[in-house]
Amino acid sequence: MDFPSLRLSQAQLNLFSTCPRKFQHIYLEQSVTPVPLGQQERARWGNQFHLLMQQRELALPVGPLLQAEPQLEETVQRLQRVAPELFASQPGTWRAAEHSRSLTIAGFWLTAVYDLLVAEPQQAQIIDWKTYWRSRPRPELARDWQTRLYLFLLAETSDYAPEQLRLTYWFVQVSPQPQAITFTYDRAQHEQTRQDLQNLLSDLKTAITDYQAGESLTQVPLSAGQCDRCPFARRCDRAGDAPTAETQDWQAAIATIDEVPL
Ligand code: SF4
Repeated sequence: MDFPSLRLSQAQLNLFSTCPRKFQHIYLEQSVTPVPLGQQERARWGNQFHLLMQQRELALPVGPLLQAEPQLEETVQRLQRVAPELFASQPGTWRAAEHSRSLTIAGFWLTAVYDLLVAEPQQAQIIDWKTYWRSRPRPELARDWQTRLYLFLLAETSDYAPEQLRLTYWFVQVSPQPQAITFTYDRAQHEQTRQDLQNLLSDLKTAITDYQAGESLTQVPLSAGQCDRCPFARRCDRAGDAPTAETQDWQAAIATIDEVPL
């Protein structure tokens, strides 16, 4: 595999950090896992919301979207009431929806797509829409590669100092009103992320080289408690004696996939 052509987003970094073997199944072998219907519907709604916000930013018509999905309008109105500044374009401010940044580091092509970037002369803010029903704990978000990579790439590819950047997650569907969690940034965090990225990418490069030589990527320890919720538990021989109902569903659905030669 040609490393420079390997495009990595925060999703792949999170995947490899969580379980290298899962990265192998999903990314290197592109194994398809069935997605439960409820999850498919949530993903579809989330995509519609992102599309709506992008269309609004570009001043494109949103009528057909709202007609097809009335709840979208209610969600946007709730957000407007809580954070009207998100919708107001200020003089001297540059805004871009679905704005992408990329950088080659340690031979890998790292990319990020910001839902909304708001750039002012002295500061810039990355906005990310989250359409889950619940917000996520702040420490968990701080560790997430989305937070770390998004800020790192903007600092590396712009003239802003790290201290001039921040990232805000907007959980638009939580009750009773949308919630924001904001992360500021500084030089120390930036250098720590650079170091952690280099270590992670070095591990990834070694893992891919080993994989090309016929060796599977390592599995997360059983004690981490991730395998019983993983759709690859059967393939990894991690199904256990008493699988949960969720695992049983996954195993039944994935059985046919296992028969496809990889
Ligand atoms: S079953 Fe466990 S080891 Fe296998 S991919 Fe899933 S999390 Fe990783």
